[in-house]
Amino acid sequence: MTAPTPQRLTGKPTILGDGMTIVRTLPSARRRSIGAWCFLDHFGPVDVSTQDGLRVGPHPHIGLQTVTWLLDGEILHRDSLGSVQVIRPGQLNLMTSGCGISHSEESPPEHSPSLHGAQLWIALPDAHRFGEPTFAHHAELPVFTHDGLRISVLLGDVLGHVSPGQVFSPLMGAELFADAATPATLPLRADFEYGIQVLTGRLQVDDEVLEPGTLLYLEAGREQLNLIADAGCRALLIGGEPLTETLLMWWNFVARTQGELSMACADWNAGAKYFGDVTGYPGQRLEAPRPPW
Ligand code: MN
Repeated sequence: MTAPTPQRLTGKPTILGDGMTIVRTLPSARRRSIGAWCFLDHFGPVDVSTQDGLRVGPHPHIGLQTVTWLLDGEILHRDSLGSVQVIRPGQLNLMTSGCGISHSEESPPEHSPSLHGAQLWIALPDAHRFGEPTFAHHAELPVFTHDGLRISVLLGDVLGHVSPGQVFSPLMGAELFADAATPATLPLRADFEYGIQVLTGRLQVDDEVLEPGTLLYLEAGREQLNLIADAGCRALLIGGEPLTETLLMWWNFVARTQGELSMACADWNAGAKYFGDVTGYPGQRLEAPRPPW
């Protein structure tokens, strides 16, 4: 039996004022989510040796978890729960917005010359999206080798290695790293759909050659992933049970109706208490843009 042809979701690089390149591959015009994963930004690598680096002022979230993963450099996270946390490569920041949270992200004053990483969002299912906001920093994650790949388990279970990160629907996320060129086979769950995106280097899945900037979508029903990785390749594999709920997203909010999104924007701009306050960030909070409807 041949698996359906994978779908290439190629993002358009955006270069920000500070020279940071960001490529968003999810959501895309052709695909809104993979499991509950609903957003993927790949940022950098960018040379921050002679500048402040990342500066994302206080902004709110609802209806989601944010997942931050670094390949190079460090980011200082502050949030309205009082968390102040530096994240480094190999570590996981997992923030659960629940009914409302706000946070900021910045390069610490003393930072590495290069910044490179990814930020992803996971939609909270309806039953959990009005829960308590929480923040977790996981300094140690399961890391193991399999078929020549070094696999770090960000979330969920990969070959029995289970991340400590708390999620609210069946899903997984892992980084695959090939020190030397290698073919590899990973078992997949047939009830999950998957996406694989290269962050550095190159790998091949089926007949698809992948480089940074493209997320390859794999429909549910596959039992395994056959890949060939080039030396030095690093890729993210995400997967989960296809969503049955229809998400609406605007700015930093994930909800179900336009009314909810409009209200979240208006509430944030009016300083509503349920988003809390971020203290200590050296700059201005961000303003929610007015929705187009
Ligand atoms: Mn954010």
